[in-house]
Amino acid sequence: MGKGMDCPETMKAAVLFGFNDVRVVERPRPVPGPDEILIRVESCGVCAGDLKMISRGMLKQPPFGEFILGHEYAGTVVQVGGAIDEFAAGDRVAVEVHKGCGRCRNCLLGKYTACLNYGDLARGR
Ligand SMILES: [Zn+2]
Ligand SMILES: [Zn+2]
Repeated sequence: MGKGMDCPETMKAAVLFGFNDVRVVERPRPVPGPDEILIRVESCGVCAGDLKMISRGMLKQPPFGEFILGHEYAGTVVQVGGAIDEFAAGDRVAVEVHKGCGRCRNCLLGKYTACLNYGDLARGR
Protein backbone atom coordinates (compact mmCIF):
# COMPACT_ATOMS: atom_id res chain seq x y z
CA MET A 1 0.00 0.00 0.00
CA GLY A 2 1.33 3.40 -0.93
CA LYS A 3 1.22 6.68 0.95
CA GLY A 4 -1.88 8.79 0.45
CA MET A 5 -5.59 9.24 0.83
CA ASP A 6 -8.14 6.56 1.61
CA CYS A 7 -10.22 5.65 -1.41
CA PRO A 8 -12.88 3.09 -2.34
CA GLU A 9 -11.95 -0.52 -3.06
CA THR A 10 -13.59 -0.38 -6.48
CA MET A 11 -13.68 2.07 -9.37
CA LYS A 12 -15.74 2.62 -12.49
CA ALA A 13 -13.95 1.40 -15.61
CA ALA A 14 -14.80 1.56 -19.33
CA VAL A 15 -14.05 -2.02 -20.37
CA LEU A 16 -13.92 -3.34 -23.92
CA PHE A 17 -15.89 -6.61 -24.01
CA GLY A 18 -15.79 -7.04 -27.80
CA PHE A 19 -15.56 -4.90 -30.89
CA ASN A 20 -17.91 -1.92 -30.47
CA ASP A 21 -18.95 -3.23 -27.03
CA VAL A 22 -17.73 -0.84 -24.29
CA ARG A 23 -19.42 -1.05 -20.89
CA VAL A 24 -18.83 0.97 -17.72
CA VAL A 25 -18.45 -1.57 -14.91
CA GLU A 26 -17.06 -1.76 -11.37
CA ARG A 27 -13.50 -3.08 -11.10
CA PRO A 28 -11.08 -3.46 -8.19
CA ARG A 29 -9.08 -0.30 -7.58
CA PRO A 30 -5.41 -0.79 -8.50
CA VAL A 31 -2.84 -0.61 -5.72
CA PRO A 32 0.24 1.37 -6.78
CA GLY A 33 3.57 -0.48 -6.83
CA PRO A 34 6.71 1.10 -5.33
CA ASP A 35 7.35 3.31 -8.37
CA GLU A 36 3.74 3.94 -9.35
CA ILE A 37 1.06 6.52 -8.64
CA LEU A 38 -2.69 6.04 -8.27
CA ILE A 39 -4.71 8.87 -9.83
CA ARG A 40 -8.40 9.59 -9.33
CA VAL A 41 -9.34 10.29 -12.95
CA GLU A 42 -11.47 13.41 -13.31
CA SER A 43 -11.44 13.75 -17.09
CA CYS A 44 -10.50 11.43 -19.93
CA GLY A 45 -10.25 12.04 -23.62
CA VAL A 46 -11.16 9.70 -26.44
CA CYS A 47 -8.56 9.72 -29.20
CA ALA A 48 -8.33 8.12 -32.62
CA GLY A 49 -6.34 5.26 -31.07
CA ASP A 50 -9.27 4.46 -28.76
CA LEU A 51 -11.64 4.37 -31.72
CA LYS A 52 -9.35 1.93 -33.54
CA MET A 53 -9.06 -0.27 -30.44
CA ILE A 54 -12.84 -0.28 -29.99
CA SER A 55 -13.76 -0.91 -33.61
CA ARG A 56 -11.05 -3.22 -34.91
CA GLY A 57 -8.31 -3.69 -32.31
CA MET A 58 -4.62 -2.87 -32.30
CA LEU A 59 -1.43 -4.89 -31.98
CA LYS A 60 -0.81 -6.34 -28.48
CA GLN A 61 -4.19 -5.16 -27.20
CA PRO A 62 -5.26 -6.77 -23.88
CA PRO A 63 -8.00 -9.42 -24.10
CA PHE A 64 -11.70 -8.52 -24.29
CA GLY A 65 -13.23 -8.23 -20.84
CA GLU A 66 -9.91 -7.14 -19.30
CA PHE A 67 -9.01 -4.09 -21.35
CA ILE A 68 -9.80 -0.82 -19.55
CA LEU A 69 -9.92 1.96 -22.13
CA GLY A 70 -8.69 5.52 -21.71
CA HIS A 71 -5.07 6.62 -21.90
CA GLU A 72 -5.36 10.41 -22.10
CA TYR A 73 -6.53 11.61 -18.71
CA ALA A 74 -6.07 14.02 -15.85
CA GLY A 75 -6.98 13.91 -12.19
CA THR A 76 -5.74 14.02 -8.62
CA VAL A 77 -3.04 11.86 -7.06
CA VAL A 78 -4.56 9.77 -4.25
CA GLN A 79 -1.71 7.38 -3.44
CA VAL A 80 1.98 7.10 -4.28
CA GLY A 81 4.33 4.13 -4.06
CA GLY A 82 7.09 4.06 -1.48
CA ALA A 83 9.80 5.09 -3.97
CA ILE A 84 7.92 8.18 -5.18
CA ASP A 85 8.92 11.56 -3.80
CA GLU A 86 8.13 13.71 -6.84
CA PHE A 87 4.37 13.64 -6.24
CA ALA A 88 2.08 13.54 -3.22
CA ALA A 89 -1.58 12.87 -2.57
CA GLY A 90 -3.61 15.89 -3.60
CA ASP A 91 -1.40 16.89 -6.57
CA ARG A 92 -3.38 17.57 -9.75
CA VAL A 93 -1.76 15.87 -12.73
CA ALA A 94 -2.16 15.18 -16.45
CA VAL A 95 -0.65 12.04 -17.95
CA GLU A 96 1.95 11.90 -20.72
CA VAL A 97 0.76 8.92 -22.73
CA HIS A 98 4.03 8.30 -24.55
CA LYS A 99 6.84 6.51 -22.77
CA GLY A 100 9.92 5.91 -24.86
CA CYS A 101 12.46 3.16 -24.23
CA GLY A 102 15.01 5.78 -23.17
CA ARG A 103 17.84 4.08 -25.09
CA CYS A 104 17.19 4.24 -28.83
CA ARG A 105 18.60 7.04 -31.00
CA ASN A 106 15.32 8.97 -31.07
CA CYS A 107 14.78 8.72 -27.31
CA LEU A 108 18.32 9.89 -26.62
CA LEU A 109 17.61 12.93 -28.82
CA GLY A 110 14.47 13.66 -26.78
CA LYS A 111 12.14 12.51 -29.56
CA TYR A 112 10.56 9.79 -27.45
CA THR A 113 7.21 9.99 -29.24
CA ALA A 114 9.08 8.52 -32.24
CA CYS A 115 10.72 5.74 -30.18
CA LEU A 116 12.30 3.11 -32.43
CA ASN A 117 11.18 0.39 -30.00
CA TYR A 118 7.53 1.38 -30.16
CA GLY A 119 5.32 -1.40 -28.79
CA ASP A 120 8.27 -3.47 -27.56
CA LEU A 121 7.66 -3.89 -23.82
CA ALA A 122 10.79 -6.06 -23.49
CA ARG A 123 12.84 -3.03 -24.58
CA GLY A 124 11.12 -0.66 -22.20
CA ARG A 125 8.52 0.87 -24.50
ZN1 LIG B 1 -4.24 8.54 -27.73
ZN1 LIG C 1 13.18 4.67 -27.75
